[in-house]
Amino acid sequence: KKSSLSEVKIVLFGAPGVGKSALTVRFLTKRYIGEYDHHGDQPPYKYELMVDSEPVLFELLDTCAKTAGELPSTKTLDWADGFLLVYSITDRESFSYIKRLHAHISQWRREAGPAATAPMVLVGNKGDMIHLRQVGYEEGEILARDMECLSFREVSASEQVTEVAEAFNDLCREVNNHRRK
Ligand code: GDP
Ligand code: MG
Repeated sequence: KKSSLSEVKIVLFGAPGVGKSALTVRFLTKRYIGEYDHHGDQPPYKYELMVDSEPVLFELLDTCAKTAGELPSTKTLDWADGFLLVYSITDRESFSYIKRLHAHISQWRREAGPAATAPMVLVGNKGDMIHLRQVGYEEGEILARDMECLSFREVSASEQVTEVAEAFNDLCREVNNHRRK
């Protein structure tokens, strides 16, 4: 059976240093290299991967805020089919950033109208560093529910492959569900 290729554009948002690049590289190449470029925005990565036995052409935009206060542009918000919101469980400030980001996204939705309804998932990264935990699992769960995120996971870009992929796959499924509506 040959099915048509679905295209899913995903943007990763989160405070500097939470592991957006590490998650992107892990998902696309299955590898973890430890140090990642952070010199401004790169064009989106394009990779074809299988999700639920169907091919998906992913375009991933790994954003790179220069300051912890910077919020995404309307252009970036308009571009994406889905948002992957990332904080680090070892960084309380990165969790607060998600709340500001959500307020910003909600504002954009009100202004842009019904077209602006890209689904979101929430990811708490650095799940391997539990000895440095600053944000509880339940806090992540509650925030995800408050923001109407369809999935929440704690993951580790440095130690996990499948779980990281599942966070992206969750979002891909939501984008496809959303399109069918
Ligand atoms: P970005 O600024 O959000 O793109 O963050 P990076 O992907 O550049 O990661 C920032 C730092 O955190 C790097 O030194 C990574 O090696 C490290 N890092 C990323 N993910 C993990 C993780 O899951 N566990 C641990 N222990 N370190 C991580
Ligand atoms: Mg980065």
